[in-house]
Amino acid sequence: MSELQAILDRVADGGRMTPEEGLRLYVEAPNDALRDAAVAVRNRHVDPGTVTFLIDRNVNYTNVCTTDCKFCEFYRPPGHAETYVLDRDVLRVKLSELAAAGGTRVLLQGGHHPDLRIEWYEELLSWMRDEFPQLQRDAFSPPEIEHIAHVEGLTFAEVLERLKAAGLDGVPGGGGEILDDEIRQIVSPKKTKTAAWLQVMAEAQRLGLYTSASMVFGFGEEPRHRISSLTALRDAHDRSIATHGLGFLAFISWPLQHESRYGHVFGELKGLQLGGTEEEYLRHTSFCRVFLDNIPHFQASWPTMGLDVAERALRCGCDDMGGTMMEENVVSQAGSVHCSVSEQQVRKTIERAGLEARKRDSWYRLLEPGAAGAKR
Ligand code: SF4
Repeated sequence: MSELQAILDRVADGGRMTPEEGLRLYVEAPNDALRDAAVAVRNRHVDPGTVTFLIDRNVNYTNVCTTDCKFCEFYRPPGHAETYVLDRDVLRVKLSELAAAGGTRVLLQGGHHPDLRIEWYEELLSWMRDEFPQLQRDAFSPPEIEHIAHVEGLTFAEVLERLKAAGLDGVPGGGGEILDDEIRQIVSPKKTKTAAWLQVMAEAQRLGLYTSASMVFGFGEEPRHRISSLTALRDAHDRSIATHGLGFLAFISWPLQHESRYGHVFGELKGLQLGGTEEEYLRHTSFCRVFLDNIPHFQASWPTMGLDVAERALRCGCDDMGGTMMEENVVSQAGSVHCSVSEQQVRKTIERAGLEARKRDSWYRLLEPGAAGAKR
């Protein structure tokens, strides 16, 4: 047996690979060996025959942002003619449509608006909780929390405590990208650094909010940056489980959607390979599932890769299709063409992979009965 296979077998049996071993495997391990180990790790966490999904809507409450990430096509600077902040009437229509479709979650994310105070976010959450109690509020990724903390002069914990009291249920993993400051400094120098991103999530987990981790790859980084990002997540999850019993519920990754100015404007990155192919995405997904042996759920990224590739990702260790996303504005403006899907499309994709589709809520609790023997 090869040395690499021995490492994969160890992880498949419940062991762990070191970051050094991970770097070797990331570059050298055969695709099928990674895939087999990924499926083994997946099946340790969840029922092997089930894939979950939820009905949700992505609402981007404002596109005003002062952070100027080089890869972002979504935001507009303050004062730009195309800026917006959604008002209650627009939100009511969007959330009513979601409720009518049987939705259970609204994913609420936006830019870093310099003039919105914390009371604005609190009022938004409490209004949503009162008008649409059936919708869980998964809102404000770590960079938005850091932005609010900065505007108000509050700690992350103080911001999260106030937002939780107003109706916040969970913090999405946006803004994770590559959690290595060498890369963050190049692609988004004004954005939350690694330690702050992790600290926001640790505080959210301490408060009993659900959280996920996301990773965008293909900024021109090297494999070592990807391993350092994954190591930071794996260690943070362990720390949170040890201290308050709640870590990240899920991980999702996708390649940079670089049909944007990022791919064209920055001379310093010319010649670097940006984004990633379908095959690279699937290999990366398998590897991450093996390396992040402690995070329970892995989502297939259909919004960036499409349903056909997502179906293949279900055979690379993913156990969840995420949400149906009635609406998506961020990755679609960066070049992705997969903006929303119907519940039927998600179910069919899962069934084509030979697996059983089951609706869930934001805590990954199953909302519909499945075949006998499902263990979660
Ligand atoms: S990615 Fe987020 S923080 Fe960065 S510019 Fe776009 S909206 Fe702003």
